[in-house]
Amino acid sequence: MSKDHVILWFRQDLRLSDNAALTAALETGATVIPLFILDDESFGARRMGGAQRWWLHQSLTALAAQLEALGSRLILRQGVAGPILKALVEESGAKAVYWNRCYDPESIARDKAIKAGLTEAGLTASSHAGLLLMEPWELKTKGGGFFKVFSPLWRALQTSYKHKAPLPAPKSLPSLPSLKSDDLEAWALCPNNPNWAEGFGAVWEPGSEGAQTRLRQFLNEALSVYKTQRDRPDIEATSRLSPHLRFGEISPRQIWQAVQEELDTGKASQAGADKFLAEIAWREFSYHLLFHIDRLADRPLRPEFADFPWQDDPDGYEAWCKGQTGYPIVDAGMRQLWQTGWMHNRVRMIVGSFLIKDLLIPWQEGERWFWDCLVDADPANNTASWQWVAGCGADAAPYFRVFNPVLQGERYDPQGAFVRAWVPELARLPDRFIHKPWEAPDLLLREAGVTLGETYPKPLVDHGEARKRALAAFGDIKKDRAA
Ligand code: FAD
Repeated sequence: MSKDHVILWFRQDLRLSDNAALTAALETGATVIPLFILDDESFGARRMGGAQRWWLHQSLTALAAQLEALGSRLILRQGVAGPILKALVEESGAKAVYWNRCYDPESIARDKAIKAGLTEAGLTASSHAGLLLMEPWELKTKGGGFFKVFSPLWRALQTSYKHKAPLPAPKSLPSLPSLKSDDLEAWALCPNNPNWAEGFGAVWEPGSEGAQTRLRQFLNEALSVYKTQRDRPDIEATSRLSPHLRFGEISPRQIWQAVQEELDTGKASQAGADKFLAEIAWREFSYHLLFHIDRLADRPLRPEFADFPWQDDPDGYEAWCKGQTGYPIVDAGMRQLWQTGWMHNRVRMIVGSFLIKDLLIPWQEGERWFWDCLVDADPANNTASWQWVAGCGADAAPYFRVFNPVLQGERYDPQGAFVRAWVPELARLPDRFIHKPWEAPDLLLREAGVTLGETYPKPLVDHGEARKRALAAFGDIKKDRAA
């Protein structure tokens, strides 16, 4: 086989435009071999959750079609990345492997070992930036350390980020020599029997074209109201770009550019744009923490939380997972998650607070359920956000902030439209009881077809009591620490 081959290893960057590794690989003039490895086996690798696997299947299908339209092909292989790359190098005679960097500790360790192996064998290993606006080590506090608080990181990012226009996608690609590839169907990434992802296809269009459509739609319809409406789960006021960002079907640089263009042409409000870019920066912050802090996924950043008196409550956990807690806003969110693979940010905070503070179930269990159910389950955002909700993370919500699920529902879903959409058995309740059906008079419940304890659960806990219990428990760990 010809010597002029290089491998482009796709990972969290399933796109052809603004893909620095792809551009650099093409600049060598060699034939680029596009490769994706399903690696559940490398040491420490965290197996993708079920919903992400569904997304991955669709996203790889879209990427393969784009590559074929340009004259190339996507090679699929499954197993431990190091040996797979080695085998493909031998089969193809490739002289180099290009990739865009990942920042979780397991990927870093794996990539370092692969780089060392390739270099030792006289090959080139070329890694590039593509997942973030800035590399986690480029942003530093005045003292030279990393940021543990969001606002100064955001200020630093605004000053130091030097925006460059996103890289274009190639117009054509050289055809590939004959190389074997797995059959994507044989990876069985999509569930069947039961097909719990049945509803996902109606909600999502995985792939970079879907990402661009979603971005355009958001910029046209919601960016201007983003600042004021983004907390309302009953209104489509957020971008829903999270799974596209998770799989790198769109880059934050492309988003930044698109938002600036909206501002330059006067189509976007400064307030909406600023708030939206700040949320993109929260993603940068999560990755900053993931890179700089060891074991973000399972160890509380505040050490006193390691001794927290968590409850062993399998029934409470199951009710939470199934959206059967008896608190309508919590149940609506958990069912939205199950049926679409996504949940609104405000509701993620409410259900997270409920699990941790009302039920005293460890945040790691919530994190694991989200990891399995979210199409956007992200190694940085999911873990950092769960630590934030628990109060044990960097720049976290204070432990005494215990969300009241009734007041949160009344404030952010004032007519109950979100609850009615996901908890249809309550749909006929009037607005004033939709977030607290247990306070509705019996006659009214009967008229609405609701029998508490039968058609819809009674509240799993009394929120007032649960709040006191949580504050006492959180207070105790503080005292222990002080002593
Ligand atoms: P938009 O409001 O349109 O925001 C645009 C983008 O900014 C998002 O796509 C996301 O990439 C980023 N972003 C927004 N809010 C946050 C945030 N608070 N922290 C970090 N980045 C943010 N987000 C994930 O992408 N993956 C996760 O696994 C994840 N798990 C979470 C778990 C909990 C308990 C909580 C409270 C939040 C979690 N988030 C996670 C953050 C946030 O809820 C989602 O990013 C957001 O709801 C995605 O919807 P969107 O794309 O419409 O967001």
